[in-house]
Amino acid sequence: MPAACQRCALPLAVPGTCGACLRRPPPLREVHAAFLYSAPLDRLLPRFKFHDDLAAGRLLSQLMVEAFADLPRPETLVAVPLHVARLRSRGYDQALELARPLSRALRVPLLSGRLCRMRSTAPQSERDAAARRRNLYRAFDVRGGAAMPAHVVLIDDVMTTGATLHAAADALLHAGVRRVDAWVCARVP
Ligand SMILES: [Zn+2]
Repeated sequence: MPAACQRCALPLAVPGTCGACLRRPPPLREVHAAFLYSAPLDRLLPRFKFHDDLAAGRLLSQLMVEAFADLPRPETLVAVPLHVARLRSRGYDQALELARPLSRALRVPLLSGRLCRMRSTAPQSERDAAARRRNLYRAFDVRGGAAMPAHVVLIDDVMTTGATLHAAADALLHAGVRRVDAWVCARVP
């Protein structure tokens, strides 16, 4: 990755925080992307996500391990969950498939089953920013009564606008998490 905004991973000429994140600080403290979403990631990720190519997923996860090995370790990783209906139709959860090997390699526990996707949200791409936030309002919830760890890193495959990750981070912060970061395989510039 070239230099990027530490709050949203958008490419910048110099490391720092982009204007948009300065004006409206996002709920994520830091976002790190292993790659920009461009060739060959734009071929590999869809093969993994939509065509059951789990070998591509293992490769991407290994590349994420290398990219994130030197970052400060959180107390736990949380994969951004799919809605249960989507999981049923796809058969596997791509964020979880990426997060499992990361958890093993970096020796950071993976907390699953606490962050839940409440609604299957409509596709985001053709909505404006306000509509996206409405679409994702309360899309996630934290289940179970046990105290949440103070520092959580969300794992996802692709970050586009960040709306999904921000909604997940909001739910975690609401449940008592003090700091939420995100590590993603690829950032759409
Ligand atoms: Zn930014």
